[in-house]
Amino acid sequence: TERTFSILKPDATRRNLTGAVNAVIEKAGLRIVGQRRIQMSRQQAEKFYEIHKERPFFGELVEFMTSGPVVVQVLEGENAVAKYREVMGATNPAQAAEGTIRKLFAESVGENTVHGSDSAENAKAEIAQFFQDGDIV
Ligand code: ATP
Ligand code: MG
Repeated sequence: TERTFSILKPDATRRNLTGAVNAVIEKAGLRIVGQRRIQMSRQQAEKFYEIHKERPFFGELVEFMTSGPVVVQVLEGENAVAKYREVMGATNPAQAAEGTIRKLFAESVGENTVHGSDSAENAKAEIAQFFQDGDIV
């Protein structure tokens, strides 16, 4: 069993979709073992997406991620990292497969409803940025 890090982005909280997204996550067999609703600071968002800091959309991405509350989550299950990437669907919702979270709910490549770690190593670091061990049960 493995853990991954998830964020329900501001477009999800704004449209009151957190329960609907969680239903898809749980239906896929992933267990929500940590969950907290937070307002990300600019500093937190810049650190979180540091890998993209030279990309042209970085400023827009940080603006968006701090534009409203997000729900940070730890998901657990068999091959959780890869499984959640599959459940999320492609970054661009126009290219996302049927039944995926981004196909069901996302409206644009920028405001695409969810984040999921892209490797087990990144999952560990991302979980550590937002959760203490005792808050994952
Ligand atoms: P995430 O890291 O959020 O799970 P991802 O791994 O599918 O998404 P990345 O390439 O890591 O995609 O991009 C990170 C985020 O940056 C995307 O989810 C999206 O919100 C934003 N983004 C990516 N490409 C673009 C783009 N061309 N224009 C605007 N925003 C973009
Ligand atoms: Mg990514």
